[in-house]
Amino acid sequence: MSKTFTCLRCDRCCYFVCEQELPIVFPYEKRFLIEKARELGISGKISFKPYEVYRVNEGREYVVVAYKWIIRGYCPFYDKTSRACKIHQVKPLSCRMYPLILNVTHNAIHVSEACCWVRNNLNYILSSNPADVFQEEIKALLEAYILFINYINLIKDKYGDLEKVPPEHVKYSKLIDVDKL
Ligand code: SF4
Ligand code: SF4
Repeated sequence: MSKTFTCLRCDRCCYFVCEQELPIVFPYEKRFLIEKARELGISGKISFKPYEVYRVNEGREYVVVAYKWIIRGYCPFYDKTSRACKIHQVKPLSCRMYPLILNVTHNAIHVSEACCWVRNNLNYILSSNPADVFQEEIKALLEAYILFINYINLIKDKYGDLEKVPPEHVKYSKLIDVDKL
């Protein structure tokens, strides 16, 4: 019998203990999250750092395609009382696709074994078509992938050459969000 992913609301994916697990968000999502945090009076609890960055214009500018959302412990939008996301309807694509994880650097899709439902159903997942199991999540993943490809094409159209650079090499004064080009 086929079954689809059903969130157990265990909170595991809204509690962060290491850098590798942190959500990756597009610039428009970053701005949206900052605005939502301001509305909820939690602006001090939200921060980001450049993650997917390209050097353009012979090093005179850096274009940010995605940021890493810095969260330690519970996500500031997680409501421990109701065990729910306060921005569920409008949460970022990386949250909507979870437990799928899109790795644009390696053009790969992973299924997170940190997810309780995944751990409980690992054998079933391994013997099934992921598109059947994660029907809604894969839509969010595809949306993110298409956006990413479109953003890369936008940079190429404007600058021609682009070079991906490690975020730590970026000069913050020269940063431009890709959707502000
Ligand atoms: S935005 Fe919502 S789903 Fe995403 S980590 Fe925060 S609480 Fe969890
Ligand atoms: S870890 Fe998996 S089952 Fe638990 S809340 Fe997150 S998505 Fe749902």
